[in-house]
Amino acid sequence: MADHNLPTPEPDSPALKNLNLKRNYHFSTQCVTIDSPDAGHKDQHGASSVPIYQSATFKGVGGEYDYSRSGNPTRTHLEHHLAKISGARHAFAVSSGMAALDVITRMLKPGDEVVAGDDLYGGTNRLLTYLKVHGGVKVHHVDTTDPTTLLPLLGPGTAMVLLESPTNPLLKIADLQKIAADVKERAPQAVIVVDNTMMSPYLQRPLEHGADIVYDSATKYLSGHHDLMAGVIVCNKDDLAKQMAFVINASGNALTPFDSFLLLRGTKTLAIRMDRQQSTAMSVASYLDQLGFKVNYPGLANHPGREIHERIANGPGAVLSFTTGDTALSERIVGATRLWGISVSFGAVNSLISMPCVMSHASIDPKVRKERGLPEDLIRLCVGIEDPADLLADLETALLEAGAIKEEDVTNGIGISRILPGGARDTVVSRAVEKLKFESNSDSLGLERDQRRKELLVSAPGKVILFGEHAVVHGVTAIAAAVDLRCYGHTTPLPAGQLRLTFPFDELDHFDQTWVIDKDLPWDAVPTSVPTPDVLDAKLLGAIQQSFLHHDQNETPARARAVSAAQVFLYIYMILASPENRPSLHLTVRSTLPLGAGLGSSASYSTCVASSLLLKTGHISVSVLSHSISAEDAEEVNRWAFTGEKILHGNPSGVDNSVAVFGGALAFTRSGFGRQGGMEKIQGFQSVRFLLTDSRVSRNTKKLVEGVALKKAQEPELVDGVLRSIQEISDRAKASLADPALSRAGLFTELEHLIEKNHDHLVVLGVSHPVLEDIRAKTREPHGLRTKLTGAGGGGCAVTLVPDAFQESALQDVQKSLIEAGYKPYTTSVGGTGLGVLWPTESAAAGPDSPIATPPQTPYSEQLPAAGIDLKTVLATGSDEDLADRISRAGKWIYV
Ligand code: PLP
Repeated sequence: MADHNLPTPEPDSPALKNLNLKRNYHFSTQCVTIDSPDAGHKDQHGASSVPIYQSATFKGVGGEYDYSRSGNPTRTHLEHHLAKISGARHAFAVSSGMAALDVITRMLKPGDEVVAGDDLYGGTNRLLTYLKVHGGVKVHHVDTTDPTTLLPLLGPGTAMVLLESPTNPLLKIADLQKIAADVKERAPQAVIVVDNTMMSPYLQRPLEHGADIVYDSATKYLSGHHDLMAGVIVCNKDDLAKQMAFVINASGNALTPFDSFLLLRGTKTLAIRMDRQQSTAMSVASYLDQLGFKVNYPGLANHPGREIHERIANGPGAVLSFTTGDTALSERIVGATRLWGISVSFGAVNSLISMPCVMSHASIDPKVRKERGLPEDLIRLCVGIEDPADLLADLETALLEAGAIKEEDVTNGIGISRILPGGARDTVVSRAVEKLKFESNSDSLGLERDQRRKELLVSAPGKVILFGEHAVVHGVTAIAAAVDLRCYGHTTPLPAGQLRLTFPFDELDHFDQTWVIDKDLPWDAVPTSVPTPDVLDAKLLGAIQQSFLHHDQNETPARARAVSAAQVFLYIYMILASPENRPSLHLTVRSTLPLGAGLGSSASYSTCVASSLLLKTGHISVSVLSHSISAEDAEEVNRWAFTGEKILHGNPSGVDNSVAVFGGALAFTRSGFGRQGGMEKIQGFQSVRFLLTDSRVSRNTKKLVEGVALKKAQEPELVDGVLRSIQEISDRAKASLADPALSRAGLFTELEHLIEKNHDHLVVLGVSHPVLEDIRAKTREPHGLRTKLTGAGGGGCAVTLVPDAFQESALQDVQKSLIEAGYKPYTTSVGGTGLGVLWPTESAAAGPDSPIATPPQTPYSEQLPAAGIDLKTVLATGSDEDLADRISRAGKWIYV
């Protein structure tokens, strides 16, 4: 019965053990993959669908479960899954969306102040009014589309800020990111709560934008079938989670086992449902917009909050509303639809139509509705998964029947036009044209935005070799993982004909060079056949080296490194740019990785250069509607990044650039040792924290590698034994890192053991160094941390495993002692994201150093602030420590 021996009960949610959740799989894959919360929850019979534990009580004393109000295994699975897809540490499932808000607002005390939006869901308003009247809570409603309206209300009395974006039913957009930053500054004690029902975690994850608590009415998109009521709360903060767990247990509104089962089942199809619903919603919105109705939908170009929404969310969603100018006409339209069900609510697979003022929002006083600008004639459409053509046809028939539009003969068939109040005719929309538009809707949307896109920021991680360095040269598997120290590449347009590269930091000598594209670059050397990244063109590389970069006699190592890096940039640019398409651009690159310390700084640089240039020359593209960079595009970036690595290192293994592009962790084996080589992503890799210590002692990688080869020739038995043993270490590490059933504590014990063993083998191979042994000793005593050298050894860097439970204060002590000894430690988690592209907001602002008076061919600006952040200045002046944080808040990041 060992399987049933569940751990000690805890009346809180099954916290995701690891906050730095690694999104190894894309969202839709995560939706259908229901992982066991821990080894104790593994199904004893291997059931492929989580069973319903339809039991109120559980036998025994001291087990994880005793009573279903406080905990139930089906609910545990659901909550674990919801935390995973929300990228949250804690998730709770309760009996409805309102129950979720009830749990959250129980934190409020008489006298507390709440700042909330003025276009909230009716039920939310009702609960807030109740708290105002009976709970002594002061509630302020403001227009959250303007973040400044909140400012005068934020102060020491503010206990909670409650936001919705987009709002329901007016689809107004609140800049969650900006508001959260303002609240944190002016009322740090306030809890920021976001109702995310309209978006679901698929399209928006407000915890990433600074919210403290996010809730969803899971009655809507999360479940998707209108066959259950449920509410979901997610948060990252342990103290808030504890309070809410207490309320749920005390008030007894946790989700029942059967509904937990249904909701878990519903979430599996969340992404695929939402994709279909959203794409049809876009067509419906465009159709109504074309007919001249006032349509509220953040996917439309004319929506005032569209740019903010694109920054904080992954799509416009599937709810839209429109007005007709006449309440009676709206009622007739709603009544005339057949396929669109007249119903409150949204988010189900079936399409719904409603008039909020007489249905979902009827509980709001008509006077208040008027004050808040909620039009009485507003019609809300909640788009389902039916065939889009049927939905449009049904809507059109209803509009015709209700007398909102009429049919007319036009040159290319039948057209439709809107009947304006008083009978006037609006523009005629040709059905044929409309159909075409409808079919190409989502595509054209993405393309149009790509063309308007002027500023680009990409970023790629460095890597650390966890196991198998040196042995990898002799055919042994190496395990490498992404670190969260990264390189950033920022591209802005330049006046036509110019190309500029800037490295605004000491380690690359503050390199800054501008070329006149047609004059200064050796275009004659570009191969005439279609060049591929796989073969390095020696003629072109030679021409670049000779003609453009003057190696002066006393050039410093920093200058030499910058010059080689510039060669990578020019080489890739010249091959990707065609005579008709030589974009004028300025690339600024900044790295937070120590250079030349074995942490993959050059590969992350090559990845930034390759991705920026591929995007700018149109070889690959990202759209605001994408959730990730496609596998194909990532492969293309990886091939060019490898080219960059070849220019810099001659004969690299390819592992560094693969980690820089794909992130996570990889097992890499060279081919040609009686075994098939290749790279394998370690799926399900759980992010782990490490201390990386740069010894600041430089090393000669080539010499160290040769030294091992010599030893192998001289003492083959000894070295072969060591290599076999390292292969076992890599195999064990690979298995443990991917094993979902292994507990975190078990994983750390295993890794500590493997780190010790691997380092000992590297000592035998003769590649350690006194500084590395010193770093090991300093991390070992008195805190017992395990350290090994990483990369080539002979100086460079050491990695120290930091278990989850390791005290922060002790870690600071360790870092202090390392700094005192002259080393440079960095804390980093490994296994994070790979290549990322920022989706910045568009801006037309001209930069201060606009150098020309005549209009350039391409409108350009050197300083295009994304999300109000001047990225170029941040890259040039931000400290390594806060760079990553500031940049992560600059907009919406899309990753591989
Ligand atoms: N939040 C929003 C935006 C809603 O639309 C709803 C319900 O319509 C709720 C919260 C309340 O959720 P429930 O009906 O599940 O209690």
